[in-house]
Amino acid sequence: MSEPSTPARTAVVLGGSHAGMLAARALSGFADRVVVIERDVLPDGPAPRRGLPQARHAHMLWSGGVRAVEELLPGVTEALRDAGARRSPVTTDMVVMGPRGWFRRWPESHHVILAGRDLLDATIRARVLADERIELLAGAEATGLVGDAGAVTGVRVRTRVGRDGRDGPETGPSDSASGPANDSASGPERIVPAALVVDATGRGSRAAGWLQDLGLPAVERREVDSGLAYASRLYLAPEQARSGYPIVNVQPDPRDGRPGRAGFLLPIEDGRWIVTLNGTRGGEPTAENDDFVRFAREELRHPVIGELLDRAEPLSDVSYTRATVNRRSYYERMAAWPENFAVLGDALAAYNPLYGHGLAVAAQSAVALREAVRRHGWGSAGLSRRVQRAVARPAGAAWDLAVGQDVFYPGSTENGPTLRDRLLAAYVGRLMLTATGSGRIARRLTDVTSLERGPQVLLTPTVLLAATAGPLKRPLTGPPLTPSELERAGLRAGPG
Ligand SMILES: Cc1cc2nc3c(=O)[nH]c(=O)nc-3n(C[C@H](O)[C@H](O)[C@H](O)COP(=O)(O)OP(=O)(O)OC[C@H]3O[C@@H](n4cnc5c(N)ncnc54)[C@H](O)[C@@H]3O)c2cc1C
Repeated sequence: MSEPSTPARTAVVLGGSHAGMLAARALSGFADRVVVIERDVLPDGPAPRRGLPQARHAHMLWSGGVRAVEELLPGVTEALRDAGARRSPVTTDMVVMGPRGWFRRWPESHHVILAGRDLLDATIRARVLADERIELLAGAEATGLVGDAGAVTGVRVRTRVGRDGRDGPETGPSDSASGPANDSASGPERIVPAALVVDATGRGSRAAGWLQDLGLPAVERREVDSGLAYASRLYLAPEQARSGYPIVNVQPDPRDGRPGRAGFLLPIEDGRWIVTLNGTRGGEPTAENDDFVRFAREELRHPVIGELLDRAEPLSDVSYTRATVNRRSYYERMAAWPENFAVLGDALAAYNPLYGHGLAVAAQSAVALREAVRRHGWGSAGLSRRVQRAVARPAGAAWDLAVGQDVFYPGSTENGPTLRDRLLAAYVGRLMLTATGSGRIARRLTDVTSLERGPQVLLTPTVLLAATAGPLKRPLTGPPLTPSELERAGLRAGPG
C-alpha cells in the first residue's frame, strides 16, 4: 500500500531517540512536515523502552553537547533541571582519578548534565513533539529505502502489530541494541514518500545494506573493539548525600598494556546514584549483583566507589551490556552518494561509551544538519552529500578521541597502536599528569573532552611549555572528597 504523494517539503527521520528527535527539530521549518518513524511505541514520560537498552547505564551530556541541544531547543536545560536533572560544574563537582593521578577540583570551566537517560530523552522528546510540524509515527519499523542510486524518494515502513492485533506497546527493555524490538507480528508494509530521509536508527542501522540494495557500493567501515563490558546498577544515595554530591570516577590507564577497569558514580534525579563499572577484554566485571561492590572495591585502581556504595541502597539488579565497540561508517568518503539521504548519530559512528560522547556528537550533528540546509537550501543539488560531510566532522572528532585510547587495549586492533598513536598518547599522558597540578591545563584538556573545542588547543605554545614543566602542585594522595562529603556518605576522613 502506498500513501498519497506528500509535498516536496516532507522530511522523514528514522529513529525517534536522541539523534532522531534533534534531527527532526533541525529540519522543522525547512520542511513543512517532518515525520519521525520509530519502531518502539514511545512512553509519555521518562520510562524504559525496548529499543533503548543503554538507558539502564550511566549517561552524561558534556557541555559541548548541551550547547548544541540548547541551540536547537532554547530553554531545554532549564526544563531538564526543573525535572530533576543536575547541572554539574567541571571539574569542581568531580572527584576523578585519571591515568596519572587524582585531579584537583578546579573552579568551573565546563559542565555536564546528569540525568537518567529516560528523563533526558523524555524531556527533549516532549519539546520536539510540541512543534506541530513534527509528527511521530510510532510502532513502525523502517525496512528499506525507495529510489535508486541517484536519489532516495522515500522509505518502506512496516507497522508493527501486537499479538492482540493492536499496535504493540513495548513491555520491557531487551539487552540487544540491534536485535528485534519486540515479539509483535509484522503489519502491512507501505511507502512513505519524502524529499529527505535521515537515518538515526542507532548502532543497529541497516543503512549500508539499504544503499547496496539501491545499487551503491559497500561503505568503508572501521571497528575498534576494546571488548569493554559495562555493568550498571541504580542506588538510592545515603540520606545526607542525596543532593549536591559530586561525580566520582576512577579511570583506567590505557598505556600499561593491561585490561582497563573503570567506575563512575553519577548522582541523578530523585537522590539516586547510577553506578557503572566496566572492564576491557580480560578485565570485565560480572553481571552478578553480589559481585558489584567487590569489583568496585578490589578491581578498580582505587576502592572509593565501593566504599561509597556500602551505605547506599540498591534499587535495581545489575544491567549488563557489551554494545561498546567503536564502529564508524565512512559514508562521507563514498564515491557516489544519493540525493535526499543522510545518516547521523550512532548509525553513523558509535563510540566506546566510557568517553560519554555519543549524545553530544548527535546534538552537534543535528546542528550541522540544520546549518547545511540553511546554507545550501532545501532541495538543492548535492545537499545530502554536503550534510554527510558536515555531520562527519563532530563524529570524527569524538572518534579520534575514543580510538586514540582504545587501540592500547589488548586485542582492540589487529596490529596494535602505531608509532603516531604512541607519540600522541605519550603527550596526552604528560598533559594528564600536568593537569593533576595545573588548573590551566585541566581546563584545556576539558575543552577537548567536553567537545567544546578541537584537540588543536592542546598544541599551543603555552600548553606545550606547561606540559614540559609538569604539574605545579604536589600529587594528591587520595580522592579529593571534602570532610563534609565523606561524612554525608557515612565515610570517615582519612589521610591525604
Ligand atoms: C552503555 C552505554 C552508555 C553510554 N553512556 C553515554 C554517556 O554517558 N554519554 C553519552 O553522550 N553517550 C553515551 N552513550 C551513547 C549514547 O547512548 C548514544 O550515542 C545515543 O543513544 C545515540 O543516539 P541515537 O539516537 O543515534 O541512537 P539510539 O539512542 O540507539 O536510538 C535509535 C532509535 O532508533 C530506533 N530504531 C532502530 N531501528 C529502527 C527501524 N528500523 N525503524 C524505526 N526505528 C528504529 C530505536 O528503537 C531507537 O529508538 C552510551 C551508550 C551505551 C551503550
